Amino acid sequence: MSTTSIAPATTFETSHSQSAVEVLSILGSDARLGLTESEVKQRQDIYGPNALTDRPAVPLWRQFVAQLQEIVVGLLLVAAVIAALLGEWIDTGAILAIVVLNSVLGVFQQRKAERALGALQKLSAPTAKVFRDGQLCNVAARDLVPGDRIEVEAGDHVPADARLVDGFGLQSSEAALTGESTPIDKDPSAVLAPETPLGDRRNMLFQGSVIATGKAGAVVVATGMETELGRIAQLLARQNTEQTPLQRRLAALGRGLVLLCVALVGIIFALQLARGGQFLETLHLAVSLAVAAIPEGLPAAVTITLAVGLERLVRRNAIIRKLASVETLGSVNVICSDKTGTLTRNEMTVREVHTSATGYAVSGAGYGPTGEFSSLRTARSIAPENQPDLLRALEVAAWCNHARVVPASDASDRWHVVGDPTEAALVVLARKAGLESSSRGELLHEIPFDSDRKAMSVVVAPPNRPRLICLKGAPEVVLDKCIEIQRNGQTAPFTAADRRQLLEIADEMAARALRVLAVAYREDVDATKGVEVERDLVFAGFVGMIDPPRDEVRVAVAHCRSAGIRPIMITGDHPSTALAIARELGIAREDQKAITGRELDQLSDDRLAAQLAKVAVFARVTAEHKLRLVRLLRSQGNIVAMTGDGVNDAPAVKASDIGIAMGMTGTDVTKEASTMVLADDNFATIVNAVEEGRGIFDNIQKFIHYLLAGNAGKIIFMFVAAVLGWPNPLLAVQLLWLNLVTDGLPALGLGVEPPERGTMDHQPRAASAPLIDWRQGLLLLAHGGLSALSALAGFWIVYQGDAAKLADSRVVAFCILAFAQLSYSLSCRSWHVPLLTLGFASNPTLLAAIGVSFVLQIGIVLVPFLHPVFGIEAYPTGSEWLVIVGLSCVPMFCVELSKLFFGRRDAGHEKRMELTRSRSLPTPEEGGIPNDEQPETVANEMAKNSSF
Ligand code: ATP
Repeated sequence: MSTTSIAPATTFETSHSQSAVEVLSILGSDARLGLTESEVKQRQDIYGPNALTDRPAVPLWRQFVAQLQEIVVGLLLVAAVIAALLGEWIDTGAILAIVVLNSVLGVFQQRKAERALGALQKLSAPTAKVFRDGQLCNVAARDLVPGDRIEVEAGDHVPADARLVDGFGLQSSEAALTGESTPIDKDPSAVLAPETPLGDRRNMLFQGSVIATGKAGAVVVATGMETELGRIAQLLARQNTEQTPLQRRLAALGRGLVLLCVALVGIIFALQLARGGQFLETLHLAVSLAVAAIPEGLPAAVTITLAVGLERLVRRNAIIRKLASVETLGSVNVICSDKTGTLTRNEMTVREVHTSATGYAVSGAGYGPTGEFSSLRTARSIAPENQPDLLRALEVAAWCNHARVVPASDASDRWHVVGDPTEAALVVLARKAGLESSSRGELLHEIPFDSDRKAMSVVVAPPNRPRLICLKGAPEVVLDKCIEIQRNGQTAPFTAADRRQLLEIADEMAARALRVLAVAYREDVDATKGVEVERDLVFAGFVGMIDPPRDEVRVAVAHCRSAGIRPIMITGDHPSTALAIARELGIAREDQKAITGRELDQLSDDRLAAQLAKVAVFARVTAEHKLRLVRLLRSQGNIVAMTGDGVNDAPAVKASDIGIAMGMTGTDVTKEASTMVLADDNFATIVNAVEEGRGIFDNIQKFIHYLLAGNAGKIIFMFVAAVLGWPNPLLAVQLLWLNLVTDGLPALGLGVEPPERGTMDHQPRAASAPLIDWRQGLLLLAHGGLSALSALAGFWIVYQGDAAKLADSRVVAFCILAFAQLSYSLSCRSWHVPLLTLGFASNPTLLAAIGVSFVLQIGIVLVPFLHPVFGIEAYPTGSEWLVIVGLSCVPMFCVELSKLFFGRRDAGHEKRMELTRSRSLPTPEEGGIPNDEQPETVANEMAKNSSF
């Protein structure tokens, strides 16, 4: 195989008019083995990555100019102009420097957020299934080269342009490329005329299209910009960086604050003028006061907190695809989760097989192919080779299968699954009886598994035997297709009594949390007939496998309950299996029932809405049911997180507030529809992510509170001083400095505060709740008032009406406002928990921010050449330093004392809540049964605790 003969462009132009074999040979590839790793390396050097060249990023200067368009900056510029008119060149320079600094900070934050999102996009970048050195493996789609032998199935994005080699029932949606919205049937065996237009090349797959149904093998003929999509790449718009609802609300808050400040400042301006202040000077003060009242650091702090939050979520295995969802996460109050793989481990081991007459127990753990068969009735060991019905069932199960089980590479005695674990369990089962799936011969046709159909079939041609169809799937689906039953090595008619009895067996197995599959077959079938061959089958047996619940999910479910979040299981599995697992995990109570998809169909929206509060398990549902449930739950005002993996789940995932795709088993389409991807497919990760989401929102609220309280302090200070007729206590440039540096840095530190303990012990925040409610508004005014009072007191202690002391009193007030705000930032780390309980050093970032701000402030006051810049005309004396230190701590002390006082009252309440929760009975809203419907024992229990 040489690489020099490859000419992908030519191959691409002609590959639809050549047979698959010819294309493979031109590309030096092999239908079964694919390319070798060394060939891939060489080709990567020649053709580069399989990626579309991105549109150039927005240049730095444009981002910078965009920052200057902010309303706040406009206000600062007005202040600079007024200072210039007054001939205050140092002020003008300082204000302009602050404008530049603010914009540079803004650009920096924006870039950081973009980088964080970019990194996440890479994490969730598309992958491709490809044969390398004969092994099927998952690689980044970017690493594909012409000649790679790829596999695609329903839900996959086509990773490059490729010529089909084999496959059944394949349809591909090429809307992105041709605008044709209905999926196109594909045919690997077709050889087309060279002039066939793109939309009719039914033996080709094109990058950017999506496999709608079926599965296929293909060989890559063009990658990157050589693909059809690459040619029209300029049509693909880069996604704009969206503003999150929070950012929009903040912008509105900013506008509101500007108006409020302008009004307040107007009053101060009028007061000062009335006192005979000089017009321009008073105007200058008024404008700088307005600027001081607006928290310039806010947008930067929000962006950085969200970006840091994204990184933290990744560390906890949750990849957020949209910045906005970080906020929504914290408000989630219903999590609808799949069962298999999310709540359970997706490690299947067959425990039982039932044929028409006999039940067998199977021993052995995990995927190791060693285990014994014994009779369920007598518990005696049984040799499978003497059991023709058992062998037949196992053969069908192993042949209707794509999974492989290979020894793990680490020389341990563990086994590694390639493919679907359900199928792998069947391969292992067959091996325990000495059967290999490779004995099935040629695969002539396949109708792939689909979770709506709940079955899969293949037509195979075993050597020296008639060709046969093998089908496996959910018991009721398979039994509906059977007319005969395998009994003692023969086939017999399948009677209604047989059917009833078998369904009972399946139900009984499911009630023991076994996942049950039925297998059936028929010989002498016509392989070309598609789905019609799936009828008149012979029932061969049931296989029951266990899929143990994940250990960590039990705890996660308990967290959900205490956090006011309802977990709901929505699964394709049998209702009894689903209920058994749901009960084990605490999702459903013993007396709760499951609703099946069929029952759902019979309920009107109103009746279903009434049931929704009581049911925690929906079983045997299709993707359409999932969509209906999401819509109904949302229409009731819930904030719904919904998981999905298959292509059919994408609409429900998209319709939910937080659509969650499985990172390991999810299809590309579902991932694209999702807002969050779970790297480990684990329910516990969803709950962790909600906790982080709550923490991030709490942090944002904390530093908004912190910044606004600081600004309120400055306004009150200036306002009271003006009302009292004192001389101007702070200069414009000093106010700006306080606002941007002493407030801004600690706000960033508050943004990275880890989620507080107890974050998951309260009800979710309503999505529509205001950022600052009236109580918090009052609180922040009170906190601001405290620092204003401290600064006023410090100013007056030094000033005492003596004009000669004005310079000293100004510097004292300046320092008190700065240090009071810095120490107060420590108290803002929690509304309830005292600082000493939190641990003084448990947020090192905040400590570092405080340290830097502190040094900068001291520097301004003590370094002589900075004095003129900041209008400082005196050094504080020793006793003045004592006044500064003492008064600066007042706000923090008061807030900490109030925490102790109110914290005690809260603790009493918490204890009552704890006791209520420990009864672990979900309320009706949580899926529990209303009190009047509780069974006797529960009612008694409730009565006992009624004193709470
Ligand atoms: P969940 O939806 O919670 O992940 P699930 O894995 O049981 O649960 P589906 O994958 O939709 O849901 O499967 C539904 C049913 O289809 C299963 O209960 C099983 O009977 C049957 N089934 C599952 N996998 C296969 C398969 N590979 N081939 C044939 N039938 C299958």
